[in-house]
Amino acid sequence: MSTSLPKTRLYMTKELSASLKIDAVGAPAHYLAGVLRLTRGDVLGVFNGRDGEWLARIDSQGKGRCELTIERQLRPQRDEPGPWLLFAPIKKTGVDFVIEKATELGVSRLWPVFTQHTQSARVNLDRLRSRAIEAAEQCRRLTIPDIAEPIALDALESHWPRDRRLIVMDERGEGRPLAEIVHHFDGSPAGMLVGPEGGFATSELDALAALPFVTRASLGPRILRAETAAIAALVCWQALAGDWNQSLAQ
Ligand code: SAM
Repeated sequence: MSTSLPKTRLYMTKELSASLKIDAVGAPAHYLAGVLRLTRGDVLGVFNGRDGEWLARIDSQGKGRCELTIERQLRPQRDEPGPWLLFAPIKKTGVDFVIEKATELGVSRLWPVFTQHTQSARVNLDRLRSRAIEAAEQCRRLTIPDIAEPIALDALESHWPRDRRLIVMDERGEGRPLAEIVHHFDGSPAGMLVGPEGGFATSELDALAALPFVTRASLGPRILRAETAAIAALVCWQALAGDWNQSLAQ
């Protein structure tokens, strides 16, 4: 593991460049000084999803604020074109878990989908975005996954980009094994759809199967919890078709 990158990382929306002074107030200042106990002279990495990662040093801190100076770029920006994950929102802790793990596993878009048996009627997008940012800071990503507006499953067809495959995790076992699909994948971008705890309705799976951009997949002989299915699908993708052939980002 590289020791040249600071362990502490902070996402911010500002443009980043050498010598920039940043006055962090509120939550970021509390996180740096109150939670991490960083003090004057300590360093951290900062990134905004566009300008790469930069070394910042704490100049001063006071009640509710923390002043930083950006010193130099540590890593240039690069694309992180991971798969999309479409998921039926589950209870709060389950969604938090999926967002965190999917971000660590490199998804580029998280897209809540309402199905007939979806448990949650609402999704707090700000909360999902905060979870994704925390996970991206921790795992050294240079981007934050896009959190898309929730969509009803029957509206997906009209919004789906035709150059992207949609791989549907079909718990009826009618799809081919996911590992086989991914192993022979044609290189086009992909999204993976996982159903809710109550499963897809038969009519939903039949309608999905008829769409030209859909491939149905099986995750083996056991029924997995929705969270487990999402993580298993992403692990399979990253290991066989994604970026697990690369080493840790330097
Ligand atoms: N209630 C459903 C049942 O008993 O058949 C199970 C739903 S499962 C908890 C939640 C979602 O995970 C499913 O809709 C599917 O997308 C995915 N899933 C779980 N196990 C799977 C498997 N063995 N193959 C494919 N998809 C699976």
